[in-house]
Amino acid sequence: MTVPPPPSLTGKTLLMPNMTPTGSPLLVAALRAFGVNAVVMPTMNGLALGKELTSGKECFPCQVTLGDVLHYLSQEKTRLKEAFAAKDYVYFMPEAGGPCRFGMYNTLHRIVLDRFPEFRETSIVTLSTDDGYDSSAIFPRGSAGPFRKLAFTAMILADVLDRIACRTRPYETVPGAVDACISAALDDMGREIEASGASLDFSPLDRLAAETAKKAARLIDRTLPRRPRVGIVGEIYVRSHPGSNQELIRTLETLGAEVVNASLTEWFNFVTHLNRRDAAQSFQACFKDLNVPGLAAAARFRLVSRLTMQWQLKRQNAVYARVRPHLDIAADHDVAHLETYLDSERLYSFAIGTEAGISIAGALAYAHDAFDGVVNVFPFTCMPSTICSAILKPMLLKQNIPYLDSPHDGSNQPNRDITLRTFMHQVARRAELRMMGGSKG
Ligand code: SF4
Repeated sequence: MTVPPPPSLTGKTLLMPNMTPTGSPLLVAALRAFGVNAVVMPTMNGLALGKELTSGKECFPCQVTLGDVLHYLSQEKTRLKEAFAAKDYVYFMPEAGGPCRFGMYNTLHRIVLDRFPEFRETSIVTLSTDDGYDSSAIFPRGSAGPFRKLAFTAMILADVLDRIACRTRPYETVPGAVDACISAALDDMGREIEASGASLDFSPLDRLAAETAKKAARLIDRTLPRRPRVGIVGEIYVRSHPGSNQELIRTLETLGAEVVNASLTEWFNFVTHLNRRDAAQSFQACFKDLNVPGLAAAARFRLVSRLTMQWQLKRQNAVYARVRPHLDIAADHDVAHLETYLDSERLYSFAIGTEAGISIAGALAYAHDAFDGVVNVFPFTCMPSTICSAILKPMLLKQNIPYLDSPHDGSNQPNRDITLRTFMHQVARRAELRMMGGSKG
């Protein structure tokens, strides 16, 4: 099925930051399915440039992504010489509303790109959490909805691949076999999304997910005892980007853990959940004020956000239902249920916004599900993650659950190895006590 590119992107290359090794390629495949010539930019090669051109007060992902785009454009300029034209590239940088600096990344990147005359004509395209990543800024109305559905499915598939890898890699009989299996599945899924994703027939993709789980399950040594589980929460970019978090997941696996990372889908469901809450509140406010035109708009917004949430959960459940009979990957957190953890502890509220709510609640869910440790991964000085740390540390301590802050700014931390080893020692001890019935919580 061939879909023509949207007029604003005809003849252009869309540059996608490589935030996650599984999610970014699948999102690019979804864009390509809708006619956009998208590519994933290599990452971390331009970090020195990103740091040089920022003041040091910016969030680390802002520096990484800035370095990525500058490095990519410079490489293209060298490769194409006279034929290079900055206007042929569009840089993709989403944003979020609310108090966080994420809403300012694209503004800062614009300022920096404008300092290079040769890159001034590269435009920046963005999607925002404010309207639940409505893609009508990129696509014409008729394609925006279908693209959003395909992109959301791509994120679920990326999560599932990550979870299959985390569930099987610590137990693989042949080193590297699981990574090879995931890498092949990623290629197959990317091809399938690009070829038939625009039809929104997801059955071939769900089948590929199930087949991958079946293959990966055959790669593990079932005589090995189950390892203690460590749950990861934190800022979405750094926890998903192995270069930024210094390969945290693999390091924890080397030290004896089975890791579950908070999913990408959890974040998208969280955004939709907040939009649904906002819609309900504005409906009530309009009703109270007898604001009839406002009431109609609020009712529409409320209905759309409710239907969006229902569709997202149905789609996610459909994929997990195909995978879990073959391999017991961790189920994803139900965002509405996560909110009940916050309500019962009364220490934070989704109404405050930012990623802190989902990270605090996610950590409490790990504790409830008998995980033996929690790591909060974040860019150094990240505001929501610092709140998260202040609230979680005493709470998890009370439950005797080892907790670790893992802040990152791109520098190599000399004490990182000993910190992770100490943490994993505590995790192993906690698992022993839990199995002996000596630790509650
Ligand atoms: S979540 Fe953290 S890293 Fe992201 S914009 Fe906010 S402060 Fe910066």
